[in-house]
Amino acid sequence: GLFGEAYRRRHEITVTGDEVPPPLTSFETTGFPSEILKEVLNAGFSAPTPIQAQSWPIALQSRDIVAVAKTGSGKTLGYLIPGFIHLKRSCKDPRLGPTVLVLSPTRELATQIQVEAVKFGKSSRFSCTCLYGGAPKGPQLKELERGADIVVATPGRLNDILEMRRVSLSQVSYLVLDEADRMLDMGFEPQIRKIVKEVPARRQTLMYTATWPKEVRKIAADLLVNPVQVNIGNVDE
Ligand code: ADP
Ligand code: MG
Repeated sequence: GLFGEAYRRRHEITVTGDEVPPPLTSFETTGFPSEILKEVLNAGFSAPTPIQAQSWPIALQSRDIVAVAKTGSGKTLGYLIPGFIHLKRSCKDPRLGPTVLVLSPTRELATQIQVEAVKFGKSSRFSCTCLYGGAPKGPQLKELERGADIVVATPGRLNDILEMRRVSLSQVSYLVLDEADRMLDMGFEPQIRKIVKEVPARRQTLMYTATWPKEVRKIAADLLVNPVQVNIGNVDE
């Protein structure tokens, strides 16, 4: 409606895609389950950030999405909360493998995402395991064996563990490529492509990136199906 259009203009949101739903401009209108809403309000946040407001309703329609927004714009919860809702709907056994998989370029960023997933998913009792290099595999494998609804991983370490056949991605139905531009800059494209081959084609794929150069556009075209694109502000290519 008109209000949604005004909100988009005010926050420099541009969208491309068929019948893009209007932004969810307040937490009260999101319709999030109460245990998730509770954690968001506990965190003291007063309103969704623009990338959250516009990407939540799209992600909640189970559509693929490309979101281009600067660092610090709240992208993590932009994909985590719809991921939580996806998990609630899917009711799978985490011992058979994760349902939500988030790929992230570095150990530090992966750890931050896990912290956020644990904090905001606490009342929902989701389990989350973080896999990254530069640390022994043993404890990570043990955690995986106990079962994880959500796995956050750097592409190198996840690919190693996949080659050892110590994790199955056959249950993944919500795949996030976070900081896609950085992952490609770091040379992770071959590992990303190998990982995605192990994820069923029937899935929702979300790509979050700070910039939109042609390498990122190419991998988005290969891995996403009819995505809605959301840009915040001027997009750097
Ligand atoms: P990005 O991934 O875009 O760089 P983050 O997801 O790391 O950004 O979020 C940046 C900071 O903003 C984090 O500390 C996060 O907890 C906080 N944040 C997220 N959503 C909101 C919100 N709706 N209101 C206020 N702060 C938020
Ligand atoms: Mg981020």
